Amino acid sequence: MTQEFINLSYVVAAAMFIYGLKMLGSPATARRGNAISCLGMGLAFVVTLFSNEIIEYQWILIGLVVGALVGAAAARFVAMTAMPEMVALFNGSGGLASLLVGWAALYSSDGSAFTSTTIILSVLIGGLTFTGSIIAWGKLSETMPSQAIVFAGQRVVNGAILAAIVVVSIMFVMDPGAQSPLLYTLLALAFVLGVMAVLPIGGADMPVVISLLNSYSGLAACAAGFAINNIVLIVAGSLVGASGLILTSIMCRAMNRSLANVLFSGFGAAKTATKVEGEVKPISPDDAYLILEAASSVTFVPGYGMAVAQAQQAVRELGELLQQNGAEVTYAIHPVAGRMPGHMNVLLAEANVPYDQLVEMDDINPRIGSIDVAVVIGANDVVNPAARNDENSPIYGMPIINVDEAQTVFVLKRSMATGFSGVDNPLFFGENTRMLFGDAKESLMSVVAEFKD
Ligand code: NDP
Repeated sequence: MTQEFINLSYVVAAAMFIYGLKMLGSPATARRGNAISCLGMGLAFVVTLFSNEIIEYQWILIGLVVGALVGAAAARFVAMTAMPEMVALFNGSGGLASLLVGWAALYSSDGSAFTSTTIILSVLIGGLTFTGSIIAWGKLSETMPSQAIVFAGQRVVNGAILAAIVVVSIMFVMDPGAQSPLLYTLLALAFVLGVMAVLPIGGADMPVVISLLNSYSGLAACAAGFAINNIVLIVAGSLVGASGLILTSIMCRAMNRSLANVLFSGFGAAKTATKVEGEVKPISPDDAYLILEAASSVTFVPGYGMAVAQAQQAVRELGELLQQNGAEVTYAIHPVAGRMPGHMNVLLAEANVPYDQLVEMDDINPRIGSIDVAVVIGANDVVNPAARNDENSPIYGMPIINVDEAQTVFVLKRSMATGFSGVDNPLFFGENTRMLFGDAKESLMSVVAEFKD
């Protein structure tokens, strides 16, 4: 196969990525878009195997088998609730792969300043994406504290690491080498920077770091593409890098924070929310049913607890029963609800909730006062009125779904525990709030059973 044919196939693959990405913009076409992008990647992969730069296939085959086994096992066995952690690990693997590609490129490098710079970029960005993603994985899986970890002089230390990276990189570009001590120093600095960059980000700011690491993994791949002069890696890397940056900006907007503020200030550092006290009013599924049965408008507000309880099918079933009963039913989605961007959309789509019933936070808030019942399903931080009212709260300023303004609020959760950010929620003590304690799926199924009776 000639290099021209391979490059032409890469262009076709790149067009398929872009077309597939475009189709991801609507749930109706997303599945097909994903399949088209997969086919594009398959095409790129197959034609690459015909490259005359390949000397032997043995290692490629081993990598293929190991990768396919790990991927298939992850797809088969990782629980839906562990998806966000898995995505974090995938980002990290992408970073590590780019690091290795960049490093390997040094062995056949022409030694030019351009190639050395792209190699350094893929090693640096890949390295920091790798360790940063491992810390993100630790925080998301709560293997380590999910809160921001800040210490005195953190910025000075990070600044010193960055300065060292710049100096060592320049020295390396002037005298590149696959076994240069400068390269090992850079590797170590990149690994440390990844850890140091993610440690001070935590709590409700985590969505930003996830999307940013995703973007970094793309940028690292793009740099590796330049290092080995591979068109498809450059295109795929820039697509991931650019879409990750767009997602990062959407997440920052959802938190009402600037990127610099998220990266450098430490989530809620030195802030303590005002203590919340009051009377909690529990409600039984029977009583919840009576109120829902009389409601003419109901909005469901899902959060991470819906994913834990796997309650999406039960929510859809209750939604259908309410509709048959004459109520207008909507699903209000907060951009950072759950543990990964689009988490709630994916779950509700899986349960076949009609997409036109999904409404964004900015659309539901102006009319939430006229909603009869807001049913909060395992959401906590994204409906916490302290974000609006309590200047001392670490989440102050973050836009929320104002369920407390609905006529009646049901909160479905198991206890009075806090959400991911660890901040108490005054909503639970609200005059119009009723707590339906228990696993969300069981509570919903009890209400559904009442309806069916
Ligand atoms: P939260 O994490 O604030 O709250 C989830 C609630 O679900 C908990 O309070 C818990 O209460 C309840 N819950 C857990 N299991 C069950 C169950 N089986 N049945 C019923 N309830 C259950 O979730 P939100 O979606 O409101 O907010 C997301 C948070 O995660 C935000 O702070 C966001 O910034 C952060 N985050 C988001 C990411 C993203 O990309 N979307 C990524 C990383 C973090 P209890 O234990 O009492 O049941």
